[in-house]
Amino acid sequence: MFENIENTSKIIYGKDCIKENGHLLKDYGKSCLIVTSKTSAVKSGALSDITNILTEQGITYTVFDEIKENPLVSSVIKGGEVARKVNVDFIIGIGGGSPLDAAKAIAICAENPDYDIDGLYKRAIPSKALPVILVGTTSGTGSEVTGVSVLTIDTNMQKKSISGKDCYAALCFCDSKYTHSMNYSVTVSTALDAFAHASESFFSEKSTSVSEGYAKDALKLLYSGLKLLNESKSLPDEGIREQLFKGSIYAGLALNITGACFPHAVGYILTEGYNVPHGKACTALFPCFFKRVKQFKAEKYETFIKLCGESEEKIIETVSQLTDVKISGTCEEIQKHCSRFENAVVKNFNNTPGGFTKEDSENALKELLI
Ligand code: NAP
Ligand code: FE
Repeated sequence: MFENIENTSKIIYGKDCIKENGHLLKDYGKSCLIVTSKTSAVKSGALSDITNILTEQGITYTVFDEIKENPLVSSVIKGGEVARKVNVDFIIGIGGGSPLDAAKAIAICAENPDYDIDGLYKRAIPSKALPVILVGTTSGTGSEVTGVSVLTIDTNMQKKSISGKDCYAALCFCDSKYTHSMNYSVTVSTALDAFAHASESFFSEKSTSVSEGYAKDALKLLYSGLKLLNESKSLPDEGIREQLFKGSIYAGLALNITGACFPHAVGYILTEGYNVPHGKACTALFPCFFKRVKQFKAEKYETFIKLCGESEEKIIETVSQLTDVKISGTCEEIQKHCSRFENAVVKNFNNTPGGFTKEDSENALKELLI
């Protein structure tokens, strides 16, 4: 069987990759919009590295730093307006998954002035979009290399992604040094997100030999990093930072081929309704995910345990201790949140070994109630 792998991003990976490859920016035009959030681009040093190169290359720039965690569709529509107003040739996204995802959607909105919320989700794919360059500052989402942008719809505050050829970066710069400024809590949650990507992709019904290769490498790099984070309860050294960052990129490449399983779809509810950061929101559902994959993919589960390099009990303990999510709410509230899965085709449920239903999602969330 042939594997048809779509990935249109040019990935430049390694220390000081921006400084060493700044000349590439000229290929995208003479002016750009930098899309970012309030602190990470500055704290990480990525903003100054990018603006120095832009100045050196004679490219003008405007900074749009209004992106918050779990970016709203209204902010990307606004970003698109700003991009048109200052008449830029391309977009540079800097930050964690939130600004990177927003940058992809802003590039689409910039070229489609008529798009409202509905327009963006119903667009013809691929739509017109400005070229996007991404610089990641977390080691989690792998958004740098995926053709996905996760947004929050203002009208119902539900997270919903857009994806397609128009959601790929033209170019991404991957340098783990920009992750050094993350505090312990963001480091843990983003590493758990990457681990969730690698695990969900590994067990996905859509897994291929190529995605499995990326997922296996990612699991080895990420699990040993998580184990150290849990044992030390302190910030990792640069070597472990590099390991987590590389793991997040491999996991992104794996996820891009397979899509995620149920923890990502159901985890969105924990972020929307209970303010749980994205990575922890996904792995909070892992006790249930592990049970399913053990039941429906027993052989692969054995391989998974070997890749992590510890006993099953230890792996579950490490992930649970780092995740540590309990929610205060009611069963009725959970049922209301899960009603979105009623009569819906949920790709992430179909990707899950043994399948998954609305009732399963309610039960998995109820286990997290205090
Ligand atoms: P994020 O939401 O971008 O940022 C989380 C927090 O970390 C923010 O407070 C941010 O501060 C801070 N931060 C980021 N980098 C930092 C750095 N280097 N130093 C200090 N602080 C830093 O985090 P994320 O977990 O990377 O992204 C999560 C989003 O990505 C969610 O919306 C999720 O649904 C989405 N996602 C996308 C994909 C995809 O394929 N596209 C996959 C999985 C998840 P500031 O906000 O102040 O900068
Ligand atoms: Fe994720």
